Amino acid sequence: MAEADLLTLGHLANARRRHLHPEPVVTYVIDRNINYTNICLSGCRFCAFFKAPGQDGGYVITREELAEKIQETLDLGGTQILLQGGMHPDLDLAFYKDMLQFIKNRFGIHIHGFSPPEIHFMAEKSNLSVSDTIQRLKQAGLDSIPGGGARFCATTSVPKFPPINAVQMNGWR
Ligand code: SF4
Repeated sequence: MAEADLLTLGHLANARRRHLHPEPVVTYVIDRNINYTNICLSGCRFCAFFKAPGQDGGYVITREELAEKIQETLDLGGTQILLQGGMHPDLDLAFYKDMLQFIKNRFGIHIHGFSPPEIHFMAEKSNLSVSDTIQRLKQAGLDSIPGGGARFCATTSVPKFPPINAVQMNGWR
């Protein structure tokens, strides 16, 4: 289907869901969003909290703050955290892997994390493919990736100034 109005799309999506999962069961998780840094090169304005590098109010979460937030989540019956942050120019893949290992060594919690643009950013900084980057993050403890931020630009219709929080289709490899 090339195009349809929103209600038709919603109707078709629901029909597809019912076809794939006919049982009338809807599941959910109790989780907490943890923003490990608000420093971001993108400045896409989708969030209200980002700070440009060097701007007052920028932070990278400490290990103590991270552990406290996860423990609070577990104490309230949570089973998952959503780790998301800005595109910080000084954080490398080792930082993300250490953060994941730190969590997995201490807590039995599902780590849902890093939007596609964050992963694409890490991959470019590390001169790795997206799939190698994901593999390394998985080995360090990443359990799943959210779809949020997955605004892929088709290469045939790239806007004149694509936001750097969108990934061009040929960049997701
Ligand atoms: S890329 Fe993410 S952290 Fe950066 S400004 Fe956009 S929504 Fe905020």
